[in-house]
Amino acid sequence: MAILEDPLRLVIGDKAAKPLDRALGLRTVGDLLRHYPRRYETRGELTDLASLRDGEYVTVLARVAKVTSRPMRNRRGSIFEATVTDGRGELALTFFSRGRQDWRERQLAPGLHGLFSGQVSTFRGKRQLAHPDYELLGEGEDAAHAAAEYAAEMIPVYPAAREITSWRIAASVRIALDVLDIEDPIPRPIRERHGLCGLADALRGIHRPIDRADVRRSRERLKWDEAFLLQTVLAQRRLAATAYSATPRPRVPDGLLDAYDARLPFELTVGQQLAGAQIGDELALDHPMHRLLQGEVGSGKTVIAVRAMLQVVDGGGQAVLLAPTEVLAQQHYRSITEQLGPLAQAGQLGGAEHATRVALLTGSLGAAARRRALLEAASGEAGIVIGTHALLEEQVQFAELGLVVIDEQHRFGVEQRDALRDKAGDGRPHLLVMTATPIPRTVAMTVFGDLEISTLTELPAGRAPIFTHVVPAAEKPHYLERVWERLREEAAQGRQSYVVCARIGGDGPEGPGDDSAVREGGAASGARDDRGRGDDGQDDGGPDDGGPDDGGPDDGGPDDGGPDDGGPDAEGTRPPLAVLDLAAELERGPLAGLRLTVLHGRLPPDEKDRAMLAFAEGSVDVLVTTTVVEVGVDVPNATAMVIMDADRFGVSQLHQLRGRVGRGSHEGLCLLVTEAEAGGKSRQRLDAVAGTLDGFKLSRLDLEQRREGDVLGAAQAGRRSSLKLLTLLKDEELIGRARREATELVSADPALAGQPALASAVRVLLAQERAEFLEKA
Ligand code: ADP
Ligand code: MG
Repeated sequence: MAILEDPLRLVIGDKAAKPLDRALGLRTVGDLLRHYPRRYETRGELTDLASLRDGEYVTVLARVAKVTSRPMRNRRGSIFEATVTDGRGELALTFFSRGRQDWRERQLAPGLHGLFSGQVSTFRGKRQLAHPDYELLGEGEDAAHAAAEYAAEMIPVYPAAREITSWRIAASVRIALDVLDIEDPIPRPIRERHGLCGLADALRGIHRPIDRADVRRSRERLKWDEAFLLQTVLAQRRLAATAYSATPRPRVPDGLLDAYDARLPFELTVGQQLAGAQIGDELALDHPMHRLLQGEVGSGKTVIAVRAMLQVVDGGGQAVLLAPTEVLAQQHYRSITEQLGPLAQAGQLGGAEHATRVALLTGSLGAAARRRALLEAASGEAGIVIGTHALLEEQVQFAELGLVVIDEQHRFGVEQRDALRDKAGDGRPHLLVMTATPIPRTVAMTVFGDLEISTLTELPAGRAPIFTHVVPAAEKPHYLERVWERLREEAAQGRQSYVVCARIGGDGPEGPGDDSAVREGGAASGARDDRGRGDDGQDDGGPDDGGPDDGGPDDGGPDDGGPDDGGPDAEGTRPPLAVLDLAAELERGPLAGLRLTVLHGRLPPDEKDRAMLAFAEGSVDVLVTTTVVEVGVDVPNATAMVIMDADRFGVSQLHQLRGRVGRGSHEGLCLLVTEAEAGGKSRQRLDAVAGTLDGFKLSRLDLEQRREGDVLGAAQAGRRSSLKLLTLLKDEELIGRARREATELVSADPALAGQPALASAVRVLLAQERAEFLEKA
């Protein structure tokens, strides 16, 4: 008898276990049984051969039509060719051999049905599999074995690899299923409430189904497994968090927060008021707030963060704001000190009565400035400390850390959150996490599932619209001239523009110092996973597998210049335009006479800051930049953005970039320059961006088109491999139900003492998350 955690070799032997590990990374019984069939062939229904595509690695069910054998012309040996058919189309199976192949001729007798597995290619106009593996059904030498193997009506076809065929996987699965002895991790009452079959049944049903209904039932149950397990872990985390104590920081009347509100030059939106009230209430509790604030680009998340920080400062605590880039940290520092005015000038002439101080701590500070910032943080003089990763260093200490705010969380992992939180001494600080882009609810529940969620959907009133156009530079080169003309017109009216390129260029190597490559390391960490959208055209909605060579997007190529999405057609095209090259060209040509400046991650920090400052002050007309401006940069007078090679960027990334314009009262213009073909996939993505300003819609689209793992990013180490059947977008309802059940169960039995099977499944998941985290680190 075997349990899911047992090593495979104990069940199927070393010889069968080795190739499963080597080719597919399957090591335990559970790994194997969660390697689900990609589709099913039905006995008597042959695979549609017309649907095969060159290069695919396929397993087809077909009938042998005829065989021929002839000697090779120039060498010793023979070519044996069998033609198989689905009744309409044909596929050639070719075998070369040094000797005669009479035995093969006897074996592959016309009329027999078999499974044939190999890579599809075309030779002299004919589809073929060269040297396929095969397994004949029902007759021939292997009759007895094959009959037992395929006793069921439906034949599972597994995501296979060169080294191991689908039917060898099936044979191992059969043995594992036969010896399986497992307890169900989902408690019976929950199964009954939701009409779910048991786990052992579901595993049998997905691997050796009797009919389609069996598959459906099993898949539903196995999806529940994934959702329920994950939500149990998250519920435990949420519960554990409430067990910590925190210093309550209720709102203090007539403090800094009231003074700040009085200074605000605008009304808060309804969404801002609601989120602000929620946060305000939670800061007043004696256990730590754990809240995610997500919202549309430009919806005004920063104001909410500042108000929360001031409430904490009023309550005698300090707040820290962690930003993902130096540029953003600098900007927050500038704008927050400016907004606070005298409220941030404690100990200075003109400072307000209860004034505090704001400190900035980044990696590029000089020694003296750094010492001062560290001192202000440690002494408690600075109520607000803003910075980058430099804040995580050990020397950074606080007198009374009460609130951690993390801006644009997708760039940080949970462990960085924790590093900051640990600086609070006893008790825990409150935590507010903000996302850069809107994300669908189920994604939020999964990726940030240990946080409560506030969402801002509306933009502040009076925001001018952003108009987005696709500029087809290949078809209409003169449009590009018009683009530069537009920037001159903006400049003539005293407005400013961004020109965004995917690469820095110049001579130096584009190393990891590039800010725009940050996302490369995070969201698109590149590792291929098995959730790809390789489809073999015959998918019955079964588990979707990338297959070994689906060549999909996001192969995480060597491009370090920034766009996180190579796009399906990035291969084989010219490298994207580079900041340094384009800036020089524009300065000489179409934008001669305008004040241009470049910004990219390879600039020394003080130059970066100088460039950004100059742009913010309006002494630069055009900022030629990489995606360092992607997140958060806020210059209301900037009205136009030109994105070169726009097809190289992801949909959400374009939306985020475009959010840099139209932030003031002048309408924004975003021009997506591309050489991608009209009607092609890339152009459709760009058209979608041009067609809507709804970031939630675009993030769904992003998620549909790209691998979830890549979109979800570093925040969910381990989760992508635990979600095999579950689709975050399509299974929203199921995820919601699983979340409610898990939350209830965990609140009644936090340690899962009464649920040993669930507890052990949780342990396995956590171990896997840790392993993946370590692999990444
Ligand atoms: P994001 O949510 O993308 O981080 P920001 O916090 O940077 O957005 O806010 C975008 C701009 O909108 C800022 O210039 C900010 O001052 C302004 N803003 C925020 N809230 C309001 C409001 N209620 N009314 C008008 N402008 C606002
Ligand atoms: Mg922001």
